[in-house]
Amino acid sequence: PRTYLVTGAASGIGKATVAHLREQGHTVIGADLKEADISADLATPDGRNQLVDRAHELTDGRLDAVIACAGLAHFVPRTVQVNYFGVVATLEGLRPLLAAGTDPRAVLLSSVASIHPADQTIVDAALAGDEEAAVAAAQAAVDRGEGYAIYGASKQAIARWLRRTAISDDWAPAGIPLNAVAPGTTVTPMTEPMLADAETRKAIDAGIPMPLHGHARPEQVAPLLAWLTSPENTHVTGQVIFLDGGADAVLRGDDI
Ligand code: NAD
Repeated sequence: PRTYLVTGAASGIGKATVAHLREQGHTVIGADLKEADISADLATPDGRNQLVDRAHELTDGRLDAVIACAGLAHFVPRTVQVNYFGVVATLEGLRPLLAAGTDPRAVLLSSVASIHPADQTIVDAALAGDEEAAVAAAQAAVDRGEGYAIYGASKQAIARWLRRTAISDDWAPAGIPLNAVAPGTTVTPMTEPMLADAETRKAIDAGIPMPLHGHARPEQVAPLLAWLTSPENTHVTGQVIFLDGGADAVLRGDDI
């Protein structure tokens, strides 16, 4: 059995992943705002520190895998704070624990929304590590009535961070695969309210067409996250893997 830390463990994809890993006999430490082994707000520096401190306490400083599911889709600046800065802090903060683990692996959640045209001011500020500028750019989007663009920008930024980081000294050469999974529309508490509204559902399906099997359930995402973070994954790293019923193929076609 391995020791996993899963963020966003209280709901949706994270919750399904915790259940899947526990069924396989692994030890899982769940983190979330509440209703988890570690309560921490990953939108804040304090919360990010709490996550890492508590993880040290609960594990003797060793983790075999980290799965960063915590995310937010609200049209507010906090979305970039959780989806980009919270994820970076999770992975960078827990990396020393992974380095002490066995066959260490990590995966984060991007989204098909990452390939939609994004607000590059937000993306650039995030990739520069400038949280204040990213929040200001997100607030400017809200003020323009374009708050919907924050989510896709946060997911594009984290996917690009992943490409750079996976091959940097601390990860690939240190023997730690780091990947992203980009789901299409998955039926969770994040999306259920939007999908319940016929007009919004139509707009979502137009933006994320899923010819294979339609919307996914979180239980259908969990096994891929588990495999990417298992010892069986020896050579997949730096990849954004679309679990999207074909949406990426529809949207990008030959443009790989
Ligand atoms: P969800 O809302 O069901 O679960 C997300 C969890 O993250 C919640 O439990 C929430 O409390 C937690 N979280 C939010 N802000 C936090 C914070 N500041 N600190 C700590 N925890 C926080 O959503 P989900 O659909 O399971 O999404 C999981 C991940 O998958 C997210 O990163 C999401 O962006 C991504 N994703 C989801 C879909 C989808 O259609 N559901 C599609 C693509 C990507």
